[in-house]
Order: sequence, then structure tokens, then C-alpha cells
Amino acid sequence: MRTPLVAGNWKMHGSLTSIQELLGGIIGGLGDPGNENGPETVPEIVVFPPFPYLQNVSELLAGTRVSWGGQDLSEYPSGAHTGEVAAGMLKDFGCSHVLVGHSERRALYGDTDARVAAKFQAAVGAGLIPVLCVGETLTEREQGITEDVVGRQLDAVLDVAGIEGFGRAVVAYEPVWAIGTGLTATPEQAQAVHAWIRGKLEATDATIASCLRVLYGGSVNASNAAELFSMTDIDGGLVGGASLQAEEFLEIYEAAA
Ligand code: PEP
Repeated sequence: MRTPLVAGNWKMHGSLTSIQELLGGIIGGLGDPGNENGPETVPEIVVFPPFPYLQNVSELLAGTRVSWGGQDLSEYPSGAHTGEVAAGMLKDFGCSHVLVGHSERRALYGDTDARVAAKFQAAVGAGLIPVLCVGETLTEREQGITEDVVGRQLDAVLDVAGIEGFGRAVVAYEPVWAIGTGLTATPEQAQAVHAWIRGKLEATDATIASCLRVLYGGSVNASNAAELFSMTDIDGGLVGGASLQAEEFLEIYEAAA
């Protein structure tokens, strides 16, 4: 049994005022978890604010069911790396999770497969749960190389962290062509890749693979979440734009229940 997870990536959006309003709406709207089918059936919920708001977010969310994490981290523990944020610093602000290898970091900020793997390892080493983002571009999908691309992204991390590294990790399959575009993979398209990811890891460790949460990300919203989350290997979602509206994010959360 895998506990579903719904994660909100706020990217570079928000202000002190708007995050207070957003989190107020989320906390206020989260009902009683009601775990008559066992606590593992109550979906987990996590938000990824921009770094400067982590202190405020940690104060607003302390004692609630909502966890928080960083949108990225440095592969280094400390040092002369201006502008970077280390895993230990995220821990200082109560982060439980961290996004690693988001396609925007890969495409715009030079995160190579090797750097993503080093960041993943830094997160695991610090006791953070890495949410490893993988996914193909539209051209790669049209060329029929989705599995090659996702396989290469996973292999880079496996080479550094081993299958054990995935013991507490989460994978987010995010087709690049579906991120922020309003285009969503069909449930069948997403399920096929999710099953392939699980199958690939299963070849090395069946237990880790069967426990691994694989989230779908790419224009998830309140209208398409239930159908996507109903697929066997889709264990929740990584949500960008739709996580900035409390009501819509909560509807997506409910769809994972
Ligand atoms: C994302 O940022 O990871 C994402 C999936 O964004 P959106 O939901 O806006 O497509």
C-alpha cells in the first residue's frame, strides 16, 4: 500500500501576504483526515515555497498536516557557492522534502543528469526526501525515445545513490511538454511511463520499487486529477499552477484520497 502524496510547487510565485492567505485557505479547508481504511490511505500533502519564505511557512504550518520543502538544493554541504542553498539549511527550516531535477532547473539553470544525481545524494545524506523529477520533451516523445530519456535520468541517480537511495525517495514523472502548458498527458500515457519506471527499478529491488511513490506532474488541475490518480501506478501529483489556489489545490488533494 502506497500512501498517496500531493505536492504543490509554487515556483517563483507569491509574496508574504499571498502565502499567508494561501496557507490559511489550505489549512482551513483540510478536513478531518478520517482514516477508517488505515492511516496509510490518508494522502500526504507538501508545499514547495520559494526559499525566502521558508521561515514564514514553517511557522504557519507547524503542527498541521501539511509538510514543506525546498524547490532545489546545492550538491555541496557548504562553501563558496554564492546563491546556493545547502541541504542542512533546508533542514534548519524544518523541510522534509526537496525537489531535485525539476525540468526548469535542467533546461534553464544547467542541471545536468550528473548534478541532479549529486543533489539527490546530498538530499538523501541529509535525511531529506528527494522528489526526483524526470520527463521527456515533446520532440523526444515524438521521436519515441521517452523511455530512453527517463531511463537515462534514472540511471544517473542510480549510479550515484544506488537503489537504496530510492528507499525514501519520491519520483515525479513530468513530461516537459505538459508543464505549465495546459496540455496534460492522458491517464493512459502517464500510467504507461509510471509502470515502466516502477518496472525498471523492480529489476533491481522489487520491494523498493513496489513502495516507491511515483507522482504525475504536468498541468494537473481539479478537473483531471481524479482520473489521473485512479491509475494503478500514479500515486499522486506534483502540481504547479493549480497549487496557488487553495480551493483548487484542496480539490486535487481530495482526488488523491
Ligand atoms: C511543475 O511545476 O512541476 C508543474 C507540473 O507545473 P504545472 O502543474 O503548472 O504544469
